Amino acid sequence: MTSNDNERSTTDDRCRIITTVADIRTITDSARAGGESVGFVPTMGYLHDGHASLIRAAREANDLVVASIFVNPLQFAPDEDLDAYPKDLDRDRYIATEAGVDVLFVPPVEEMYPHGAVLTSVSVAELSAKWDGETRPTHFTGVATVVSKLFNIIGSCSAYFGEKDFQQLAIIRRAVADLSMPVNVVGCPIVREPDGLAMSSRNIYLSPEDRVAAVVLSRALAAGADAVQAGTSDPTEVEAAMTEVFSAEPRARLDYAAVVDPESLDRPERLGTTTQLLVAAYLGSTRLIDNRTVKVF
Ligand code: AMP
Repeated sequence: MTSNDNERSTTDDRCRIITTVADIRTITDSARAGGESVGFVPTMGYLHDGHASLIRAAREANDLVVASIFVNPLQFAPDEDLDAYPKDLDRDRYIATEAGVDVLFVPPVEEMYPHGAVLTSVSVAELSAKWDGETRPTHFTGVATVVSKLFNIIGSCSAYFGEKDFQQLAIIRRAVADLSMPVNVVGCPIVREPDGLAMSSRNIYLSPEDRVAAVVLSRALAAGADAVQAGTSDPTEVEAAMTEVFSAEPRARLDYAAVVDPESLDRPERLGTTTQLLVAAYLGSTRLIDNRTVKVF
């Protein structure tokens, strides 16, 4: 055991780990019955400070804070990284506890999908088909389905999501509105590394050279923001400014650099007061996404 492990395991006020739907329901139901508010943070684990920021936001506003760790097979295509997805429950428990979580819900796959095949799904039509949906056609239905399922398990709550996954957040907001789920969706700001790279569990896949080059995403967004601030109303000019930054980084393969409406995610004809910039690019075989909101008054 390392001294670090020692430090962790002597903290006996670490959060509880719950693995069954019945047990987590009992906990959240009795909290609400006692007049407590529930904050919920769904994750796939391998936590970093981006996840911790969501837990801290939930902690500030709620009596009971639950985070889930579930690597959802439904949202991975057969050629994606489901089996290789990084895991470290001990470390996650430490980070989640430090950030203020009360309960970690860590269900095994059989607990979430006891019938194996899932016949019922939540699909947020148009919003799921564009941008990331073009490269990952089944991804967002997998996400919307598992998030809806988690909301049904946790019950009425405020749920915290990162703006890092901008399209995902728009899709979840829409699913909640369309299906009248009793959930208050709270979007939280992107947490970045000191050089500007958005934190992501997948950054661990990057080679040292690609890790350095990955800053190209946030640099492209900065160039796009500068173009907006310079007063153009033409989305094409803003996209060109972002694409040019990618052209100067041979290690990156651009998927898209787009200007979109923050709700419909469609490309606007002209820029309004709020412009949403989205980028996605491959560094080696790792696909990274990032985004930035630019407001002009
Ligand atoms: P994941 O574990 O990647 O599914 O992410 C779980 C939640 O953490 C999602 O709501 C993400 O948007 C959010 N998240 C991931 N990375 C960041 C980040 N760098 N800053 C803020 N939130 C994040």
